[in-house]
Amino acid sequence: MAQRNTPRPVARSGRRRAGRAQLDQRQDPYKATGKPHEPSVCPQCGAVYHQGRWHWSARPADAHEALCQACHRINDRFPAGILTLSGPLVAQHKAEMIRLAHRQEAVEKKEHPLNRIIDIEEEPERIVINTTDIHLPRRIVEALRRAWHGKTDFHYEEDGYFLRVNWHGEA
Ligand SMILES: [Zn+2]
Repeated sequence: MAQRNTPRPVARSGRRRAGRAQLDQRQDPYKATGKPHEPSVCPQCGAVYHQGRWHWSARPADAHEALCQACHRINDRFPAGILTLSGPLVAQHKAEMIRLAHRQEAVEKKEHPLNRIIDIEEEPERIVINTTDIHLPRRIVEALRRAWHGKTDFHYEEDGYFLRVNWHGEA
């Protein structure tokens, strides 16, 4: 598995002003780059931006092109959510857990096009699921708890758009 740097805030020069730093940091920095023209289509995933948000719909004839923030994060491999599954249960049910994560992503993504899995790292007793948003890890961990219980802890970043969730399953 390729080595990866710890996620750190994306530098967007000129966006941050004195006194507003705290507020600005609470938004997804990938979202705060200005609104796309309406309508726009993401050239990478085909999501369409209109009425102030991204939808799955047919490409409008007069659409502009704008990369959505989910594709932007995928390209940068810069997760907003990291869900780590550990413990003996992971070794026993790894394939099922990965299928469960993909199923939850499919349901979530239908309604929220920007909530996606970036990638899944597999180790013998560990699975790391990187996501483009801070909602999908919670959804996946709730499904895991329904199936296998386990212990969960959440770490929200105080002043940023980032969530780390750890789930531990004892056999
Ligand atoms: Zn996209």
